[in-house]
Amino acid sequence: MEIQNSNILVLATGGSIAQTSPDAPTLTGKSLLDAIPELQNKTAIAVEQISQVSSPDITSDNWLSLAHRINMADADEKVHGIVVTHGTDTLEETAFFLHLTVKTAKPVVVVGAMRRPYSLGADGAANLRDGIVVAGWPEARGRGVLVVLNSEIHSARDVAKTTFNLDAFKSRDFGILGQMVGGRPCFYRRIERRHTLDTAFSSDLPRLPRVAIVYSHVGVTPDVLEAVASSGYEGVVWAGTGSGSLPLAITPAASALVKNGLAFLRSSRVNSGHVKRNDEVDDDALGFITGGSLNPQKARILLMLSLTQTRDPVKIQELFDTH
Ligand code: ASP
Repeated sequence: MEIQNSNILVLATGGSIAQTSPDAPTLTGKSLLDAIPELQNKTAIAVEQISQVSSPDITSDNWLSLAHRINMADADEKVHGIVVTHGTDTLEETAFFLHLTVKTAKPVVVVGAMRRPYSLGADGAANLRDGIVVAGWPEARGRGVLVVLNSEIHSARDVAKTTFNLDAFKSRDFGILGQMVGGRPCFYRRIERRHTLDTAFSSDLPRLPRVAIVYSHVGVTPDVLEAVASSGYEGVVWAGTGSGSLPLAITPAASALVKNGLAFLRSSRVNSGHVKRNDEVDDDALGFITGGSLNPQKARILLMLSLTQTRDPVKIQELFDTH
């Protein structure tokens, strides 16, 4: 394996990569690194424990702290790259939030593990080692936030957890950016959409707007949307059937949300494909937004950040069409 002579900042948040029992993560970021002998004396690593939780318990405050810490690291010329260790359940969400909000060209790499430490075939140490190598690799700069697991390098925008097996992370419609070959990152492509230094967003926020995801199904009734509207949310991501469709019975409630100043965005529960505007639904007339190729949980993040900039659905749609 090849390790560049670089300084890496590791930000540990918990997750199965740090979890030796079914209860909760207990291993610190430092002990994860101590378990990788090949890193010793080869690269300078500073570790900070940001949280110690299973990733369903990650909060938007954790996201703001992580982004703030990474932005500070951008100004520190001693730091060449940043690695975040994270549970895999919500890893794609944290990675995408950082992809849209950190202001750095330095490599930022999010890693996790499908198997706990000490279990047979545990993958955490190898994923962390690969993440550290990628974070120290000059060609990894400027590619946006990367997710490294199972020897594959994904863009935070495109990747999703798709199963509970070792090869859980897939960039289904668009493919990986690169892979680890003989211990070195080998890149094949860049992503086109705006990220990191080039986004419209900042993490300098007191809080994020509340946006709910409502999952569609046969027989869904408008009262779920009415409940969201009366609970202080500022937007709804509709995880629609097929290409983000909604039953006729739902349209008046969705339209009422928009008239009351909430954002209503159509995405797809299929988790693949591109939800396009004005396809069986008159998005222009109804003031809806469409989520393109983002899955509902990622569309929610971009919608929350968009709502910090504007309430105008046309302007929000532009943000979705470019990020
Ligand atoms: N429960 C774990 C989490 O923190 C699962 C994992 O990390 O793979 O998301």
